[in-house]
Amino acid sequence: MIYPAFPHHLACLQCGRASPPSLELRCPECRGLFRVEYHEPPRRYEPRTPWFSVSLRQGWTSLMPLPLAGGFTAKLEFLSPTGSFKDRGAAMLIGGARAFKLQEFVEDSSGNAGAALAAYAAAAGIQAHIFLPASAPPVKRAQIEAVGGIAHPVEGPRAAAAEAAQRFADARRLPFLSHNLSPYFAEGMKSLAWELTSQLIGVTPDALPDHIILPVGNGSLLLGLWRGFQELREVGKANRIPRLHAAQSESVAPLVAALNDQPTPPPAPTVADGIAIPNPPRLAEMTAAVRESNGAAIAVSEDAILEAQRQLGRTGLWCEPTSAVPIAALKQLRRDGTIRAEDTVIIPLTGHGLKAAAS
Ligand SMILES: [Zn+2]
Repeated sequence: MIYPAFPHHLACLQCGRASPPSLELRCPECRGLFRVEYHEPPRRYEPRTPWFSVSLRQGWTSLMPLPLAGGFTAKLEFLSPTGSFKDRGAAMLIGGARAFKLQEFVEDSSGNAGAALAAYAAAAGIQAHIFLPASAPPVKRAQIEAVGGIAHPVEGPRAAAAEAAQRFADARRLPFLSHNLSPYFAEGMKSLAWELTSQLIGVTPDALPDHIILPVGNGSLLLGLWRGFQELREVGKANRIPRLHAAQSESVAPLVAALNDQPTPPPAPTVADGIAIPNPPRLAEMTAAVRESNGAAIAVSEDAILEAQRQLGRTGLWCEPTSAVPIAALKQLRRDGTIRAEDTVIIPLTGHGLKAAAS
């Protein structure tokens, strides 16, 4: 296969072997996962990207100060074209699908990523097959189908959808894009770090917030922010990296367990369906990003998540339960003194409340 000349290569996280740009998910030598290595230093005005992304005019979501949980500034990611922050990653990954001239692909998702990938695939004229748990909110499936994606609901846990997607891709000889395994999805998330930095200059004396709290499942937002802020530091736009705190539900908290060197308890059902990922494939990278940014990983109860969602609703903003997890975590971080009264905090509100609505 001849690869277009993109100014990056893929480096194996396990054995370090370099591979040419491609939509392959694993190292041919050791089956390890990839990261993107660019051949050029970061530029001053925009994140490095592997190729042109597909546009539905995503990004540049608003910032809004809120008085909840001792106060924080929300980045309204649920105002993205498909109603969740996943648009950033989908725009980049489908940019690759377009660059490699795919006509059809297979993907698995708990819902939001699938809806985003189906939408950007539609914009690029590519057919998406999205495998998702049959238990995903029905509206997420409706969203996939509304933009011409083919939804394949799969009974059983989240992992069953991933396995069914791989089997279907093998049987039909279709590319499996897997936003969880592909390094390109998180590359699209870097734009959030760059945008935040641009939006905050002039708003606060010290442009960067002290803390960013995120809902974490497969970790694309965490890893994208980490890589984005590293680029910003390289070009001199950030003199430090905000502390990145990972918020999970007590019911599914593998990162919290890993950071505390504890075994992962068996997963339980959770209202935070968007982060119900018991075995995230990039757990080692996620652990390093939290540790190296001096962040914490916090697990919150199901009741605390729903209470935070209700309280946010009273401000006029409706997010899905997954997006309320960091608000519940902020309360804990303030209680235990990790976040002080005068510290600045950003929480991306990742998904719209309509995403979790019963239909
Ligand atoms: Zn390898």
